[in-house]
Amino acid sequence: MELYSGHINKLIEELAGLPGIGSKSAQRLAFHIINMPKDKVERMVNTILGAKENVRYCRECFTLTDSEVCPVCANSKRDHGTIMVVENARDLAAYEKTGRYEGIYHVLHGAISPMLGIGPGDIRLKELVMRMQDNVSEVIIATNSSLEGETTAMYISKLIKPTGIKTTRIASGVPVGGDLEYIDEVTLLRALEGRVEI
Ligand code: ZN
Repeated sequence: MELYSGHINKLIEELAGLPGIGSKSAQRLAFHIINMPKDKVERMVNTILGAKENVRYCRECFTLTDSEVCPVCANSKRDHGTIMVVENARDLAAYEKTGRYEGIYHVLHGAISPMLGIGPGDIRLKELVMRMQDNVSEVIIATNSSLEGETTAMYISKLIKPTGIKTTRIASGVPVGGDLEYIDEVTLLRALEGRVEI
């Protein structure tokens, strides 16, 4: 016998498919949604659809943005010769929050992971190499200090070496396996300031 109605089961299933949502949380969310006023549910659904339809990748750095070029890339006051390579848009946001980084970014949308079958061709590495043709003076590799992040950092440094462009890696003030987005701003800045050439 099914414990819940078919519609609730379906909703629980959809929610449980989201990252970080286990079956218990999915059940709790499903019942919460069912008990919400209809107009609130409609607003939520429209917000999700609106984000899906209007958010795109920045033409330059591939972060998620509402316009063709993101506000960072569009800002002529930023140092366009310094590119910080991050794994995802959340990491970019973490560095932006410090308000102290003046360069621009490149968002890979992932990291190389042989275990998960994610190879160099699955993240935005080709696009990074393309950007090396512009006037770039430094590439700061700020991938996470997880195994995947380190593998990706090594791969990038080998890719860029032949161009002669200065390549640095943020300092290991960031704990191993630590997700950049959860690390406080002081640690982020220390990691950036203590970056070493590789
Ligand atoms: Zn951009």
